[in-house]
Amino acid sequence: MPTPRVALAHLPTPVEPMDRLGAALGFDPGELWVKRDDCTGLAGGGNKARKLEYLCADALAQGCDTLVTGGGAQSNHARMTAAAANKLGLGCTIVLAADEEVPAGNVVLDVVLGAEIVWAGPLGYRATEAAIEGAYARLAAAGRRPYLMPIGGATVVGALGYVDAADELVAQLPDVDLVVVAGGSGGTHAGLVAGLGDHAKVLGVNVGARRDLAEAVSLKAAEVADLRGRPSPSGTVQVDDARVGAGYGMATQDGGDALEMTARLEGLILDPVYTAKAMAGLIAARRDGRIAPGQRVVFLHTGGMPALFATGHRALSESPGSPPAPPSSPS
Ligand SMILES: *Cc1c(COP(=O)(O)O)cnc(C)c1O
Repeated sequence: MPTPRVALAHLPTPVEPMDRLGAALGFDPGELWVKRDDCTGLAGGGNKARKLEYLCADALAQGCDTLVTGGGAQSNHARMTAAAANKLGLGCTIVLAADEEVPAGNVVLDVVLGAEIVWAGPLGYRATEAAIEGAYARLAAAGRRPYLMPIGGATVVGALGYVDAADELVAQLPDVDLVVVAGGSGGTHAGLVAGLGDHAKVLGVNVGARRDLAEAVSLKAAEVADLRGRPSPSGTVQVDDARVGAGYGMATQDGGDALEMTARLEGLILDPVYTAKAMAGLIAARRDGRIAPGQRVVFLHTGGMPALFATGHRALSESPGSPPAPPSSPS
């Protein structure tokens, strides 16, 4: 039986040429494109909308009444889960791994959406997952029927949304050689590979949420393909681990440069935590020849703009005297 899905996202997302940025990087016209998954809707858009279509369908199928998830204070997934809950008439509890702060960026939207926010203090990845499980247990004990989503909605069911995205892209643009995507949990990357059928067609750029990203993507891509009834993807996983800088949520010089270059040549806004590092990975791959001349490349814009309004422009590059970087645990 196919896994159920509820409609939450604005689909299909547009695919647009980036010929001005392309020219600056030595691409011919028609070789560099962006797929606008920053335009999926759900209170600001981003890649989590596609995951939530499957996760929320699963929650409804199980008769759950409250969505529970969490992440860093600037979690895009938490914000979009709160929006999905409202659209479906469910409750929502989000656990944010920070001390309570004046709302900025995604947190403004969390507050407007009315989600119950649990400020869990500055926790690492595993401790944040444990705090989400704690919130789940508290709600269950109070007689609710909670549905637990890990940080980033990073389950195989969630990644099914990116098998769909791969099919959508293939129908929109023929002969795509490579998709470049930011990698947090790796679920988005894994879903794309499962859909495209070949690891050679996706380059994931590690943003520093997990050290074992390549291994995780490799395992998850096979699992997602299996769940969707597709052959296990061929080839070897491709991950760029060199764009992380000082860690997750910490700005890098090449990321800040990529963000400014994309804004100034294309009018396209990236986010400081994910897509700026992913674009830096694309630029590096073009410059050192891993992306060869003549290849047709698609940058998957996974969203995240609200975090920009919590970061401040000066924090975009790693310069001495940058203000403290934002979230310490992933979304
Ligand atoms: C969550 C997120 C990602 C990472 O997605 P994964 O599937 O966890 O790898 C990338 N970009 C943005 C803007 C995100 O919010």
